[in-house]
Amino acid sequence: MKLALTNALLIDGRGAAVERATILIRDGVFEACGANITIPEDTEQRIDVEGRAVLPGLIDLHAHVIGGNRAQGSNRYAYETLAYQLINPDMPYRDPIGMVTLRTVPAIFEFVSQGITTIRDLGGRDFLACDLRDAIDQGLIVGPRVLAAGVPVTSTGGVGAWWGGEADGSDGVRQAVRQRVKMGVDLIKCFGDGGPDWSTLGYTDDEFRTIVDEAHRKKRTCTCHCMAEEAIIAASQAGFNSIEHCWLGTAKSAAVMHDNGTIAVPTIANAYHIIHDGPKYGMVGEGFGFFDSVGFGRVVEAFKELVKAGVPIAMGSDVGGNEAHRHGHNLLELPFYVKYGLSNMDAIKAATSTAAQVVNLDHLIGSIEPGKIADLAIFDGNPLEDISVVLNGAHEVYRDGRLIYSREREWRSRSSGYREAATAWSDFEPEGAKDSYRVWNSESY
Ligand SMILES: [Zn+2]
Repeated sequence: MKLALTNALLIDGRGAAVERATILIRDGVFEACGANITIPEDTEQRIDVEGRAVLPGLIDLHAHVIGGNRAQGSNRYAYETLAYQLINPDMPYRDPIGMVTLRTVPAIFEFVSQGITTIRDLGGRDFLACDLRDAIDQGLIVGPRVLAAGVPVTSTGGVGAWWGGEADGSDGVRQAVRQRVKMGVDLIKCFGDGGPDWSTLGYTDDEFRTIVDEAHRKKRTCTCHCMAEEAIIAASQAGFNSIEHCWLGTAKSAAVMHDNGTIAVPTIANAYHIIHDGPKYGMVGEGFGFFDSVGFGRVVEAFKELVKAGVPIAMGSDVGGNEAHRHGHNLLELPFYVKYGLSNMDAIKAATSTAAQVVNLDHLIGSIEPGKIADLAIFDGNPLEDISVVLNGAHEVYRDGRLIYSREREWRSRSSGYREAATAWSDFEPEGAKDSYRVWNSESY
């Protein structure tokens, strides 16, 4: 199959933009791209994209798609796994496994319609993310490429213990990594913060190093959720490929990350939603006091320190990780990055080439250049002039050179989160925005 897209504002994911570009795709791979490309005679399909912005398929490094918006991180729906029930038999709320699975399906469509063609699922019930990955690969449902972490590794009582992945001690965490590889995960997710206070350290240096050592021995990347400065420093020194959140990071922890080449996945739109909308979704009580004491300004401060230190920023949304940050709002990350210090081009790189580096797939995805997999996200408007155009959802999306989403041919009739996200952003005022911030209603999954 040979395909030519013409008249594109090509934004290649590596920092270049070319107007009126042509992109040639053959058998799911980019063959040529640029301003002066001759379209071969045998091209089967020619598509004029009418000057729209054509980006590499976007990468969301931090999602929790299993169970949709019935978030695993809140007190109401969290405690679903058998292991957790054994420890906490009184937890009253849990969804049947079938409902968890079915709620996943509409959530996965939200990624596609926003132009996201690769995701890391960083934690969910049991190892359902591996099944989701396989179901998409088998063509049972349309979706992005899924890289699954399965059940995250955490210390006893640590953050994320609700998924049942507690492991302690050098032998314990090494076995936990091996078990996950046996279950078919693509990467290892670890929680670096202990509980119940999110600003404590979950693991010793030895435990952190063992997790990284065993993950890399099994040829898996590994990422660590860290809020606290000391956790960020310890995880970076241990050699994790990336660190999630970094919300309580400082100039000191940012400098350590920079020196170690650790990539940050700041998830700041997530912080915004938790702090401003969490109570509405029942995110109150033990553990959530942390957010009351932090405030969004502190998170922004930590992000600015990362940018100032030159730490590479890669995009992760954390949608589905809690009830306040809902599926369909993934790309709200990008306007936040621009607002607080990245250029539009660097924000796009965060969601493309830099994100591809985090998962060691930069030889295959994350940019539009000959030889790479033909994943494309096409948007109306120019995100180099106004990054918030991505909040309107994609016009068309290609994965492996095949059209997997077309807004004009959209098969879904229900309201989608991304439109509401765009409206929310247009109303956005960082200070005192609590009351005017729009309430969306994607409550159905
Ligand atoms: Zn998360």
